[in-house]
Parts: sequence; C-alpha cells; structure tokens
Amino acid sequence: MGQRDRRSALTRAWTSAAFLSAVSLACPTWSQAEKGSAQSPVAHTINIGDQKVRLTVETFGAGGLRFLNLHENESTSVLAARDVLKSLPGTLITVHNKGTRLISFTLDGQTFTFDPNRIFTDAGIERSLRKYGPYSPSAHHQIAILRGAILEMLEDQASPLVIALHNNTPGDYSILEYLPSGSEAQSAKEVFVNPALSPDDFFLVTAPALFAKLRSAKFNVVLQSETPVDDGSLSVWFQQQHRPYANVEALPTHQAVQRSMLGAIAAP
Ligand SMILES: [Zn+2]
Repeated sequence: MGQRDRRSALTRAWTSAAFLSAVSLACPTWSQAEKGSAQSPVAHTINIGDQKVRLTVETFGAGGLRFLNLHENESTSVLAARDVLKSLPGTLITVHNKGTRLISFTLDGQTFTFDPNRIFTDAGIERSLRKYGPYSPSAHHQIAILRGAILEMLEDQASPLVIALHNNTPGDYSILEYLPSGSEAQSAKEVFVNPALSPDDFFLVTAPALFAKLRSAKFNVVLQSETPVDDGSLSVWFQQQHRPYANVEALPTHQAVQRSMLGAIAAP
C-alpha cells in the first residue's frame, strides 16, 4: 500500500461510524461537577491487535485545564496533577495498558511495539514502530485509531490549555538538551534555564505567552520551535495546530516540585 493509499485508509478509519460512536462514550459531562470534586471516571477501551488500551477521563469541576498522562509508568506526574485538582477545576485523562511506557501488541502473528507519545503524526508512528521492531500498514492503522481517540478528547477548544504529564530519568533527557549544543536544539526557539533548579524539572511549551509567564516565575522552560523535528510527539501536533500546550517534566522523586510547576502554569 502506497503512502497516499495508507493516508486515505487512515482517514477512513478516523471517520468510521463505529469509531465515532465509541469515542462519544468517553465524553464526560463537563458542567455538572462541583469544583474540586471528582465525577466517576469514564473509561473507553481501544482494541489494538490483541491488546486493550484503556483511556480514562476524570472530571474535577467544569472547564479548567486538561491534564494528560500518556506514559503510564510516569506516575509521580499523575499524583502531582491529582493534588492540583483538589483545589482547581480540570480534567485528567490517563492511558492504561500494562503500566509501562511502551505498548506492545500482536497482529497477524507479529509483535509490534510503539511509544504512545510518538503517534501524533504518521511519520512518528512509522518511526516508532521501526525503532522497536517490525512495521506494517495494518499495525500503523491500529495505532492511528488510538491517536484519533486521544485527539478526540483534546479537540474541544473551550478549555484553552492541555498539559501533558511526564517524568524523566536523572541525567538523561533534560532542558540542557535544548541548549545550542544539545540533541534537541533544533526543536527549541527559546530556552530559559534557572541554575538553581534541577535541569530535569522543566516545561516545554508551544506558546510565547506561556514561555514568558513561566520564565518570569523562574521555572526552567523551553519555547518549542514553530518547526520542531517531527518525532510524532503531542507537542509537535499542538505546534502544527497553533494551539497552546505544555509538557511538564520532572524527576520521579520530585512530586512536590512538579506540583508547584503545575500550580504555576494553572495560575491566572
Ligand atoms: Zn513521558
């Protein structure tokens, strides 16, 4: 199947009646909850090959920010968000498979593996599958359905900001990678580093106003380039949509720091 054919097949998958009706189950009722009190979670299951990936949506009051956890093993970030949502309205969307960063599934006798934060462009899906094992158009198609389900939850622009929750490894991925000599330099437009903070605790944002707000609050922050390297991550998708978005990265042992970072970005 050629690239163009595969794209049109994916488009058909996105618009299939079954897909849309399945996703509609996941839409929470935004208007009924009181501030800070959680409604019952709404769960939606996506079948990928032989695996079931569960998307859970919890609402804490009407409107507010939307927090999204794509890497299930990065649980400190979810605890920090839950803490913030005790006092602020918002929504928490979490992706569940087996508690791991990567998701593996079997399809047509082959096992495929992908990173759920590398699926938001077609180039990203293909690169992520090839990085961890085999690639096939059928596997690509299955992952694109998961992508569609996640994006469906983020499409409503009434809530202005989506915040992706991440934790990282000491001395590995940090804000230093976005400095001119770093591996992510091409994807950065501006970088502010506060030497008093751990370089592992940082924001990546798509909007200059967010960058200015977080820099003035003295947090480590990267303003993503308008043309970042297309690795299929959600920040690339939001940049392409010209919508405000933030990754909040912190060490797994820095729950209190991450809570204060989330509080700073939620502040008016
Ligand atoms: Zn992550």
